[in-house]
Amino acid sequence: MMTDAQKTLDNITTPVLVAEPVKNEKEEITSFVIAYTNRAMDELSENSYTKGKSWSDIEDKVPVQLPWYKLLIQTARNQIPQNYTFFSARNNAWYKVDFSLLPDQNISILFTNITAEMTYARKLKEAISKDPLTGLPNRTGFSDDLDICIENCRFQQKYAGVFILDIDNLKNINESSGSKAGDQAIISVAEILKRFERDTIHSYRYGDDEFAVLISNQNYLDAILTISDTIFDCFQMEKIQISGGISIFPFNTEQKEELIRFSNMAVHYSKQNGKNCISIFEPEMQRRFIQKLTIQSKMAAAITECNFVQYYQPQFDVSSGKLRGFEALIRWTDDELGEIPPSVFIPLAEESNLIIPIGRWVLQTALSTLKNWQKKYNFNGIISVNVSPIQLAQEEFIYELQSLIRSNGINPNLVEIEITEGVMLHNMEEAIEKLKAIQDMGVRVSLDDFGTGYSSLSYLQALPLNTLKIDKSFIQDICSSDGIQANITSSIITMVARMGLETIAEGVEDINQFELLSKFHCNVIQGFLQGKPMPFDMCDSFLAGDTKALLKN
Ligand code: C2E
Ligand code: CA
Ligand code: CA
Repeated sequence: MMTDAQKTLDNITTPVLVAEPVKNEKEEITSFVIAYTNRAMDELSENSYTKGKSWSDIEDKVPVQLPWYKLLIQTARNQIPQNYTFFSARNNAWYKVDFSLLPDQNISILFTNITAEMTYARKLKEAISKDPLTGLPNRTGFSDDLDICIENCRFQQKYAGVFILDIDNLKNINESSGSKAGDQAIISVAEILKRFERDTIHSYRYGDDEFAVLISNQNYLDAILTISDTIFDCFQMEKIQISGGISIFPFNTEQKEELIRFSNMAVHYSKQNGKNCISIFEPEMQRRFIQKLTIQSKMAAAITECNFVQYYQPQFDVSSGKLRGFEALIRWTDDELGEIPPSVFIPLAEESNLIIPIGRWVLQTALSTLKNWQKKYNFNGIISVNVSPIQLAQEEFIYELQSLIRSNGINPNLVEIEITEGVMLHNMEEAIEKLKAIQDMGVRVSLDDFGTGYSSLSYLQALPLNTLKIDKSFIQDICSSDGIQANITSSIITMVARMGLETIAEGVEDINQFELLSKFHCNVIQGFLQGKPMPFDMCDSFLAGDTKALLKN
């Protein structure tokens, strides 16, 4: 029999459902069954919520986002009304759902369609969440839209892409050309993105120099890649340097936060791979990212626990065969990860600025070692220390170097810093000034890894240098039969000598290489042929006169 109240409920447009708790012998609620649904509810649920059905039977039909059971239990146990707002992709509508306890301990659930209110609120929010510089919606707008995009794509079984873009070197633009130029770069990026604006493509200003593009409702995964490629091509045509990363729903993940995280990892990957490119997220990136974070946190601990060790590789004068000095090279063994080569952890230290305390330790250790050998063995050779561009860029660097030389009572002529062309990347004039000041102190400056990267002869003229180190990748092939590498090396050595610089060949592993370099009048040799990097104790024995103490090939 239908009661009057039920008849009334059947005639209202708000969907209503009544749930009845099911209890065990101990009077504990174990589940709920549907006790009643009004006509509007039957329409909304397409008759899937029928009287007597238990909750577990209909669970897969109810809107996924609504935590039904949790809300029912909370209402029944705490006797406090609950409510929840969600977007139904099936009905393309927003609902506010109210859970209240009835006098008979049943629970009424009312669905109020609040699409009109939400649309209004969203418009209002959109107005507030607009970035004033570009007119694009900001990060909040992106977050709201991504929620809806995910729900729509889940319901319609379509693909969505989160494409994050980060302008390359905006900081440099701001520093070198002023913040107006920086703003202009941001506006230009926004203007390009606006050209692509349509139902399924929306752009946002995601951060200072970051943008997000949401590509939604695509039938094919490839469509997302084509769209992002096309967008990126526009930047290339306009000569705007930008790095991007894409993650795809549901291919990479169905979770909103993960989609954002994965896209950011892909951006990071693009930045690491030379910038000005886009990358699609791959699980391998996450693995590497986690590995990187692990190394970085272990490295931070290694600094406080003083877990680094310094090795020293001898350098020999070619014509006299005498020891010229040692290059200090850092070593790190972690209890769990084992030996981590400096080629792996130094770049990570540079990225996280941990290179500053590490570099300080390197310099302190190298100079106190030098002092130690001077005292014990009258050692009058040179100690060479690798200095990262980030370290050199620090204002304090020169003062720290000076005060260490003073406090150890060392002749600055016996200290050499090894720099790479990386020092020129940030601010060339400033780097040159600094190096000049270092040379004025009497400290030697050596250019490391010559022959790799973007080495150019023009740097040799611009930089104040004492020494040039020819990279081992160059030396490796000098004996090859075509003679090309030998010719180049020979010309470099001749030219460098004319400029009044000393040359050191690195990575000399066999006697043929040695002989050829000797013929070319290379000044100094450093390599496994004559001596590998060795711990302090072995160098100590060698300096004490034990020539067999050298670690060789
Ligand atoms: P680098 O400055 O070019 O150092 C020379 C590297 O070549 C060293 O590798 C050395 O062990 C290796 N090597 C020397 N002779 C030979 C040879 O004959 N054959 C071969 N195959 N290799 C040879 P290591 O010690 O693994 O260092 C790698 C890089 O890590 C260094 O390259 C340097 O860029 C960086 N690094 C090492 N220690 C420090 C440090 O204390 N501070 C900074 N900033 N960077 C460091
Ligand atoms: Ca070096
Ligand atoms: Ca080198």
